[in-house]
Amino acid sequence: MSIQEVLELSDPANFIDNRWQPGAGPTRPVRNPADPADLLPGVPDSTPSEVDAAVESATRAARHWAATPAPQRGDVLRRWNELIGEHAEELAVLMTREMGKPLAESRGEIGRARLELEYAMGEATRLHGATIPSRMPEQLVYTQRGPLGVVGAITPWNFPAVAPIRKLGPALAAGCPVVLKPAEETPLTALALATLLRDAGLPDGVVNVVCGRGSVVGAHLAAHPKIAGVSFTGSTTVGHEIAASVARRLGVVQLELGGKNAAYVHSADDLGRVVEQITSAAVQTSGQRCTAISRVIVQNEIADELVRLITEKYAALTVGPGLDAAIQVGPLVNEQQRDRVADYVRKGLEQGATRTTPNRAVPNGPYFAPTVLDHVTPDMVVAREEIFGPVLTVLRVSDVDEAITVANDSDYGLASVVFSREIDVAMKFAREISTGMVHINHGTISQPHVPFGGVHGSGLGEFSIGHTSTEFFTRLKTVYLSPRIP
Ligand code: NAP
Ligand code: MG
Repeated sequence: MSIQEVLELSDPANFIDNRWQPGAGPTRPVRNPADPADLLPGVPDSTPSEVDAAVESATRAARHWAATPAPQRGDVLRRWNELIGEHAEELAVLMTREMGKPLAESRGEIGRARLELEYAMGEATRLHGATIPSRMPEQLVYTQRGPLGVVGAITPWNFPAVAPIRKLGPALAAGCPVVLKPAEETPLTALALATLLRDAGLPDGVVNVVCGRGSVVGAHLAAHPKIAGVSFTGSTTVGHEIAASVARRLGVVQLELGGKNAAYVHSADDLGRVVEQITSAAVQTSGQRCTAISRVIVQNEIADELVRLITEKYAALTVGPGLDAAIQVGPLVNEQQRDRVADYVRKGLEQGATRTTPNRAVPNGPYFAPTVLDHVTPDMVVAREEIFGPVLTVLRVSDVDEAITVANDSDYGLASVVFSREIDVAMKFAREISTGMVHINHGTISQPHVPFGGVHGSGLGEFSIGHTSTEFFTRLKTVYLSPRIP
């Protein structure tokens, strides 16, 4: 029982070489944001030497894993996916206890992660190369894709299962061993996933999980000379540091960073359905999603009606512990995150925005009532910075050109949305918006086999998910083959 194994750990440990290795440093507690009395096992506050041990273990495993026929690597991923399915409910409960999201969302996240993994395991049978016509008689020229090498994976807390699986799946299919540094808030889900990989038959050392602080474990991993590439998901600030550190040795990075995603509401037969789409994309995971809609840019003529409907919807959302089946919005991941969000709302009001949602009571703890700020202007802090909470800002515009100008006036470029009855408006928006993904007539829900990523401050390197991630985790090699010495 792998998940039970993690919950019953008597001594905090990292998972290195398919074994529990007790940490040298002190213990870091893992907290349930909805229930301070819920006792979760702590994890090691690891030191650089534990990162070194994990990288050594991965380096030892690299040759054998690379030489394992790719379809057989896919078979291990298939077994892993089956085990995740068998343990789906325990994993979902663990995720909700670690980071707070409603249990229904945790269950949905496991389902989503398994679909991403299904695509990744198939990639092991699709590591195609090309044959290229040769100028030399009888010579065969072809390209093949081999593993990038030992990979560092650094993940955030908002998707405790999807974030690690989105990296581990394609990395393992491509033949790369991985050292994973999960977010300090959600290490237990990552450890549980690693034990399931062991149970699926993954050889020792191919996946290693080192817990601890980003500034110590993450930074040392990113700077490690034996790490060929780093796949990082997290904030833009940390992404900058990692890119600089990895570039020093000409390593490669795949960065999935923050967003300030805009939804332009131009026109719709039924604004109520627009509101449904916006709300679910804005408040899922309490707004702590990189692709959360955070700016609504609306035509002046329909703005009052749209704001009235969104406000009604937001005021009715139930807020409480994620394990309570009746609630729609769980706690934020911790008190600091709640205070940050509250601070943004205060700044928004100070700078002239209007709060349309009622001031209502929420349970004690890191909860924040879903909030709508109207009459926001592009220069306000709440229109520019990622809030990462259930707070929606509304900006009013007079036409599609102004909407595109406002939407593109951002340091970020992850996802965007346009709602319109007019195909030419929707197409113009999709053409001119400067984001990695654009959604027409629905919220920012991505699919588990489709390239996912951002531009500008939202990302760098190959998009994750789908075939583009395989490009990141493989290196191209060109082979010239003469059947005999000419
Ligand atoms: P974060 O503070 O950047 O942390 C992300 C990870 O990086 C954590 O594991 C963190 O460790 C580690 N880290 C921190 N400092 C580091 C350093 N100097 N060197 C190496 N690693 C370091 O982000 P977060 O607060 O966890 O997550 C929220 C952010 O992630 C948001 O900006 C969100 O938009 C973004 N995100 C983006 C996507 C996407 O696909 N584009 C998806 C999800 C989230 P600790 O354990 O110490 O925190
Ligand atoms: Mg953090």
